Amino acid sequence: MTFKALQTRETEAGYSNVLVDRELSELGEGGVLVRVQWSSLNYKDALSATGNKGVTRQFPHTPGIDAVGVVEEASDGPFSAGDAVICTGYDLGMNTDGGYAEYIRVPAEWLVPLPEGLAPRDAMLLGTAGLTAALSVESLLDTGVNPDQGPVLVTGATGGVGSISVAILAKLGFEVVAVSGKADAHEWLTELGASRIIDRNDFLESAAKPMAKEQWSGAVDCVGGEMLAAALKGLKYGGSATCCGLAGSPKLEMTVFPFILRGVNLLGVDSVELPCEIKQQMWQLLADEWMPKDLSLLEAAQTELSGVTDWVDRILAGGVRGRVVVKLP
Ligand code: NDP
Repeated sequence: MTFKALQTRETEAGYSNVLVDRELSELGEGGVLVRVQWSSLNYKDALSATGNKGVTRQFPHTPGIDAVGVVEEASDGPFSAGDAVICTGYDLGMNTDGGYAEYIRVPAEWLVPLPEGLAPRDAMLLGTAGLTAALSVESLLDTGVNPDQGPVLVTGATGGVGSISVAILAKLGFEVVAVSGKADAHEWLTELGASRIIDRNDFLESAAKPMAKEQWSGAVDCVGGEMLAAALKGLKYGGSATCCGLAGSPKLEMTVFPFILRGVNLLGVDSVELPCEIKQQMWQLLADEWMPKDLSLLEAAQTELSGVTDWVDRILAGGVRGRVVVKLP
């Protein structure tokens, strides 16, 4: 039996993505076979689809770190044929063939049941970005950040993780200040729930010194580099900033002053290897109390496998506003 998949191939001229027919037997045996209905586009998918060896070591390879679908066949674990499931992270789409295909085969431990009431397409509008946003918010709440302490900051605010973080924080009653490089996205960010938007360059200028004005009770950083440093420098006494990404830079260059003079915290966020039970709790929150007020606002586009490559280029250039969902045939 054959199925459609997008495959990233290494050629002498570089990497290219092609639509191929594959044999089901190429996915190996064991675990759970899932018929994928929807996937999504994350920054990491774009890295894999362009040959980034830090994400995917061997090609040809099918990217797609997110998938939602229906169990076709389960040889172990708690799932049975017909169950609706979500798979995000672990090795999916990295060195295990991922969600840009009609089928995936994964260990049962990588799957969480699709929460009741959450439509499969909506699960992928959220995807790994939504899970990461939820984890970021959860870790700020865990350190005691609350709406009474003043504004929280979100950097890379129009990206997948950023935009969903803005929506969740606003829903929880926080005053959200969004930092974005996209001048034309201010109205959209306001609709999502931001109270104020700061231009990326102005924000960096305001934090050029080792310490900046104490303004933020918490911060969700999706960019890394000088943006994360600027967020940390502007935290109020005892405040916390989460760090999940490197869309700007993997480096962090700053002094220790905000840590030793204001007791601020830097909280690492990982959505990939974290235990499945926690993923399940986060998905439940996303499906219930933390569901963004208007999910459709988060949608940048719906594409099919043949359209993924165009969006890969755009996300790498920092040019996507919100989330791209991928419909499988
Ligand atoms: P997106 O590309 O959707 O969003 C990133 C946003 O960052 C952009 O939209 C842009 O927002 C901003 N940005 C991009 N380039 C730069 C730059 N050079 N300088 C400053 N800002 C920039 O990515 P995702 O939201 O999917 O992911 C964000 C980051 O988090 C990525 O690095 C990703 O790999 C990482 N990630 C990590 C996870 C984990 O488990 N730790 C899980 C998911 C994602 P704007 O234009 O509004 O400023």
